[in-house]
Amino acid sequence: MERLRNTDVKFLKGVGPKRAELLSKQLGIKTCADLLMYYPSHYVDRSRFYTVSSFSGDMPVVQVKGRFVNFTVQGEGAKMRLVGLFTDGTATMEVVWFKRIKWMRENYKPGVEYVVFGKPSEFAGRWSMVHPEVDSASSVEMFTGLRGVYPLTEQLRNRGFSSRTIYNMVHTLISTHCRYVADPLPAELVGRLRLMSKSEALAAIHAPRTNDELQRARLRLKFEELFYLQLNILSYSRNRAAKSGGFRFRHIGRYFNSFYFDCLPFELTGAQKRVIKEIRADMNSGRQMNRLLQGDVGSGKTLVALMCMLIALDNSMQACLMAPTEILATQHFETIAKMVAPIGINVKLLTGSTPKKQRDIIHEQLLDGSLHILIGTHAVIEDAVQFRNLGFVVIDEQHRFGVAQRARLWKKNVVPPHVLVITATPIPRTLAMTVYGDLDVSVIDELPPGRKPVVTLMRFDTNRLDVYRSMTRQLRAGRQVYVVYPLIKENEKVDLKSLEEGYEQICDTFRDFKVAYVHGQMKPAEKDAQMALFASHKADILVATTVIEVGVNVPNATTMIIENAERFGLSQLHQLRGRVGRGEGQSYCVLMTRHNISKDTRRRLEIMTSTTDGFVVAEADLKLRGPGDLEGTLQSGMAIDLKIANLATDGQIIQLARNEAQRVLDSDPSLISPENSRLSREMRLLFDRAVDWSMIS
Ligand code: ADP
Ligand code: MG
Repeated sequence: MERLRNTDVKFLKGVGPKRAELLSKQLGIKTCADLLMYYPSHYVDRSRFYTVSSFSGDMPVVQVKGRFVNFTVQGEGAKMRLVGLFTDGTATMEVVWFKRIKWMRENYKPGVEYVVFGKPSEFAGRWSMVHPEVDSASSVEMFTGLRGVYPLTEQLRNRGFSSRTIYNMVHTLISTHCRYVADPLPAELVGRLRLMSKSEALAAIHAPRTNDELQRARLRLKFEELFYLQLNILSYSRNRAAKSGGFRFRHIGRYFNSFYFDCLPFELTGAQKRVIKEIRADMNSGRQMNRLLQGDVGSGKTLVALMCMLIALDNSMQACLMAPTEILATQHFETIAKMVAPIGINVKLLTGSTPKKQRDIIHEQLLDGSLHILIGTHAVIEDAVQFRNLGFVVIDEQHRFGVAQRARLWKKNVVPPHVLVITATPIPRTLAMTVYGDLDVSVIDELPPGRKPVVTLMRFDTNRLDVYRSMTRQLRAGRQVYVVYPLIKENEKVDLKSLEEGYEQICDTFRDFKVAYVHGQMKPAEKDAQMALFASHKADILVATTVIEVGVNVPNATTMIIENAERFGLSQLHQLRGRVGRGEGQSYCVLMTRHNISKDTRRRLEIMTSTTDGFVVAEADLKLRGPGDLEGTLQSGMAIDLKIANLATDGQIIQLARNEAQRVLDSDPSLISPENSRLSREMRLLFDRAVDWSMIS
């Protein structure tokens, strides 16, 4: 494999410098190894021929056997195209070429039997295929099994590349080199798990003879990728645990106790108590804590984080809380400052918009130690921000921060401070294992008592009157209502218009009630004023965008109406729903949609009506939409490019890979034994270009 990694594709038979340059620019394929790892995106069964008369709906890539009746050149200039009328005896379709027209005309003959291979599309009742691959029927009969289809770019197609071109190149490689690819995985592991060998898997992924062979090849290659990933994460956190010491927080003192006994207006839930104990033990272990705190919306994570900050203060250290947005940082600041006011703690807010004067005061107080808790955005990790003795850091909604940013916080003291990451939404377990694989996990799996599950309903625009009637009933009973509109970046103007229209409609319909109005583009002071109206119940209805998604806490609000619910992701809907159900009253969340939503959309929204468990929602969201932001974080943090494994759907393989990685590290922590020598070399090749993690801590 190493030789393939060092060989430029241009030296491969039939490639040459021009094609090599295209491959590199368009697909990032530079070396023979890159080419070998450019896997097909899907497969077509070469023993199966479709008939044109059977085409219907959205067709996959298929092959059809038949003859051209005639060829005509149509259009002029840039629009010029060659159209071949193609029949397979059941019906006809058009085969269209926009490029290389002359070559096609000279090489394809009417009356000769061909196999065309491409994706049929329909326009006005006629089927056509644009730039399919065409083979003479006799040559195709030699093939059996599945045929890989490689993703290509428009540019490559225009330059005469087809899926077949790639396949031919790969095939040359496989037939000459593949046998010599040594397996980097330890033989014992491959044998015990009955995995395919690396060389078998590479050959099979490109040209599987059967579906079963394909599945085995995929399993082997996915496992390998995920295994490296887990090995990297685990060895990294083991290294750090072994190397870096941490502050010992031995005492529980005045701050914690007076907050707990005098300020806390309610009893902690069992889960909160357990989690605080876990964190406390971790902070007194002599090692640096890196822990993820998971829990559903409203389960009381922020409160737990605050109480742990107080433990830091009791041990004469400072604490810091970092949030992803200014709104969130401000909200945290306000709630926390209010809660700890009676016990005399100095808390300050630092964001990008903190005025210079205030900033100077903060810098000074951080250095002389008179500032106990700093709350802020990314601004807190800037180099200018220096602490006298930072001992504990809370990162809220870490998935918008990379691992590298977390590492910058560790450097804020001679001994790295303890780090607690809290996420606003639950994360499915297998994903947490990968993206936060180096963190220990605490879970709050219990909501504060007295919370009634929110009843979630789906309603169409046509039911609007009914919805408004129920809303009126709630309002008459003295309850408050949120009405939320989507505001999605790409089309802010249109969205803002629908928000404004919605606001007017609500004002018109509910004349007896006061309506507040807030969106992200308002000036902060104006926004705060509107929010304050709603929070103090001077307004009954709050018309808003997703700015209220996180943090807002108005227990008297019992109804959440979400307009165009189909435009929100499930986790986002779950966050919004978390704004109600915070008091004693039975709460409702109404998902409004157009009447004609697709089956998929309906199924997606039905997940919301069927469960209030954030972990179930997150799991479903992951399956439907993929890991989104989280994968970005992972890839920037770990510098690995997953070519075949899928974090959303390969949960079982992730678990298997993690177990196996643990096992290897248990018996050979530094990968120095002879049976792991290839593995160790592979890991160095894969991860050396990345950050040297053990150096950061
Ligand atoms: P999260 O950060 O997990 O969404 P918060 O810490 O913001 O949750 O808590 C949500 C609300 O519940 C807050 O108003 C908080 O004061 C309240 N709360 C937290 N813990 C408890 C508890 N044990 N009993 C009652 N209310 C609680
Ligand atoms: Mg919170």
